[in-house]
Amino acid sequence: MQLVFFGPPGAGKGTQAQKIVAAFGIPQISTGDILRAAVSSGTELGKKAGPLMAAGKLVPDDLVIGIVEQRVAQPDCDKGFLLDGFPRTIPQAEALAVVLGKLNKPIQHVVSLEVPDEVIHERMKGRGRADDSPATVQHRLDEFRRLTAPLKDYYAAKGLLRTVNGVGSLDEIAALIKSAIQR
Ligand code: ADP
Repeated sequence: MQLVFFGPPGAGKGTQAQKIVAAFGIPQISTGDILRAAVSSGTELGKKAGPLMAAGKLVPDDLVIGIVEQRVAQPDCDKGFLLDGFPRTIPQAEALAVVLGKLNKPIQHVVSLEVPDEVIHERMKGRGRADDSPATVQHRLDEFRRLTAPLKDYYAAKGLLRTVNGVGSLDEIAALIKSAIQR
């Protein structure tokens, strides 16, 4: 099963992704985690991505597309995967469709975690990750609205969008997600 998790920073994508991959036995591919690992280990990718991430800006499309293209071709992705934090722009979504088309593993469900802005702001305050300073958070939310939110219409038009209420207990939300992807 090929899944995409979609939602603003702080929507709970990462947390819910962990539950779903455990339940379905597929790997979680988080471009944010891969980029943070590259920054900590000081690779060329990390040197390019680090300052952009610290400022709450998106990393260039070609870099993240390259990461995902390599990752989905690994043998552990044979039975599917869950993409968390990718695609984040229309060009990323278009590139993904090409890559997955070649592998004959199309996206089946795009799960959009719906969380009101006020709740997002509250959650981000409490998170305390290095790239979670107030200015960075604001920038990431702006980037989300400008570049990532249009993906909702893009995937809705393809019949792939499953909207799920992202406010509730972790187990409640996980149950909603499971039913949305088993319909
Ligand atoms: P969150 O969980 O708050 O949504 P992520 O961990 O997914 O954040 O991403 C952290 C940062 O990594 C982003 O602010 C961005 O700089 C970079 N990043 C992650 N995924 C992508 C992507 N698909 N395209 C561009 N930049 C990305």
